[in-house]
Amino acid sequence: MDQQFASDNYAGICPEAWESMAQANRGSVPAYGEDIWTERAANAFRTLFESDCDVFFVFNGTAANSLALASLSQSYNSVICSRFAHVETDECGAPEFFSNGAKLLIARNEGSKLTPDDIRQLALCRTDIHYPKPRVVTVTQPTETGEIYSIREIEEISATCRELGLLLHMDGARFANAAAALGCKPADLTWKAGVDVLCFGGTKNGMGVGEAVLFFRRERADGFDYRCKQAGQLASKMRFLAAPWIGLLETGTWLRNGQHGNACAQRLARHLDHVPAVELMFPVEANAVFVKGAPGGFDRLKARGWRFYTFIGGAARFMFAWDADLARVDALAADIEACFGQELATPTHPSP
Ligand SMILES: *Cc1c(COP(=O)(O)O)cnc(C)c1O
Repeated sequence: MDQQFASDNYAGICPEAWESMAQANRGSVPAYGEDIWTERAANAFRTLFESDCDVFFVFNGTAANSLALASLSQSYNSVICSRFAHVETDECGAPEFFSNGAKLLIARNEGSKLTPDDIRQLALCRTDIHYPKPRVVTVTQPTETGEIYSIREIEEISATCRELGLLLHMDGARFANAAAALGCKPADLTWKAGVDVLCFGGTKNGMGVGEAVLFFRRERADGFDYRCKQAGQLASKMRFLAAPWIGLLETGTWLRNGQHGNACAQRLARHLDHVPAVELMFPVEANAVFVKGAPGGFDRLKARGWRFYTFIGGAARFMFAWDADLARVDALAADIEACFGQELATPTHPSP
């Protein structure tokens, strides 16, 4: 199949992650995370984040988010999130399930990002015993629509959290893209800005499988190992969940992969600037491009073999991973121009 940009999860495993898997595949080591690879990967996170954080490795992002949120809340608590949040729209109720009933409170945010006002509104609208007590705020960095919270915005959110007695969780399924876009140190974007727990995405960053959960305040991680085991997230051959991180983190590949995805999104966006028949639905700040245009154009684009999702407002979503081929990005741009240009030429014959 020609390369597609429907999801950053279409990509394979990057060579650096693959190489450290191969190294970890030599010989026999203890199981369940008692091995040198797991220790080395956890230490790579501590070095990168300049923090003596507690680090856990799980299989996917839904587990990372759900278990992290469950560990920060009681069953009678609530978790404040954006109406676009993956935890709300794409995790099949897992955060509620793993927390034994903590309720997601969905903000009516105008844009993609959560604001201090959104948080205040939800946290303060009810304070009586009949309402689930707000305890956590979760932000997605970058957002599901490819937008980036500045460090300042995260700091303002965390200040609001502290004022209201809330904890701050960050869904960083594409954290590398955010760090690459901001060009800042991971610490500045997380614990130094008041984030308590980060879920750092490995799968979309170039691994085959795996996410890391970082507790910047170790006392919050109490019992998290048991929570992972109970949820079926304790890898028996943990070295294979941990080792690819070594290839990503110790070599700086995590950041280069993020930069590459972002650069490809910029490249497509620049091309589309010159195509009047389409519009970008959101500012292109990370590795996502959402394209708005007439339905007929999308039909023609599909007929040319391109795959994409349209689950957000009917716009076509294109996501760029570590392996995105610049020639394919250019081919996509050319096909969009051809398919939607046609739409302009025949405005009286819209496709069904
Ligand atoms: C991909 C993604 C996840 C993780 O999804 P899984 O399929 O469970 O690994 C979490 N949050 C966001 C914003 C994502 O895009």
